[in-house]
Amino acid sequence: METCYEPGVVTENLGIVEEKIQNACKRSGRKREDVTLIAVSKTKPAAMIREAYDAGIRVFGENKVQELTEKYEELPSDIRWHMIGHLQRNKVKYIVDKAELIHSVDSLRLLETIDREAAKKQVTAKVLLEVNMAKEDTKFGLMPEDVMGFIDKVPEFKNVTVEGLMTIAPNTDDPEKNRQFFSALRKLSVDIADKNIDNIHMGVLSMGMTNDYEVAIEEGATMVRVGTGIFGKRNYALDKNTR
Ligand SMILES: *Cc1c(COP(=O)(O)O)cnc(C)c1O
Repeated sequence: METCYEPGVVTENLGIVEEKIQNACKRSGRKREDVTLIAVSKTKPAAMIREAYDAGIRVFGENKVQELTEKYEELPSDIRWHMIGHLQRNKVKYIVDKAELIHSVDSLRLLETIDREAAKKQVTAKVLLEVNMAKEDTKFGLMPEDVMGFIDKVPEFKNVTVEGLMTIAPNTDDPEKNRQFFSALRKLSVDIADKNIDNIHMGVLSMGMTNDYEVAIEEGATMVRVGTGIFGKRNYALDKNTR
């Protein structure tokens, strides 16, 4: 992986992404500061992350617990790490006090574990509920119709706050096809916010990746998770642990 790293490319890519974010904000009458760019650094070496850091990025997304904790130790302490990948309950204890936000809560058992581990570490864990808007078999996440029932149980957990919703839209070359899922996620978050439940805020909508983040911003994303567009393609063959 290190051998693929060409200094300067990350900075250049960040410039392009930033411009696209600004344009999407303008088109949809939104403020740039209402959208957080999460640089998804999974499988990428520290040197590339440092380049993004030097370009001003402070929020990074990882999808593996071990990789997140290793990078947490190695890289500057003012980086805010987001856990964006599927999370196994037995690994929650390693990241509950290291991840600023866990994007991928999709079961009560996982929420319960996060709550318990947060209590042990005396922190309040911030989480998003992951919703499988397109109902793809290959994806994790709550089914959209199950979210309201889930929400009602959240107040039981005193050491977590649900900050919003997250979705991973289908992999497609045509981002317009994903607009419906982004707009439906936003509607769902408005319906949840209307219920005014303790522990539940709906300020965050984490949606949009390299192929579709501009459409996601037009549909209300407050966090976009961009990996390939910043760091280039990932080579999973070189690192089976990060697949
Ligand atoms: C890898 C990943 C991303 C980034 O995907 P790109 O298409 O490379 O931008 C975003 N979100 C999640 C949950 C991911 O696992």
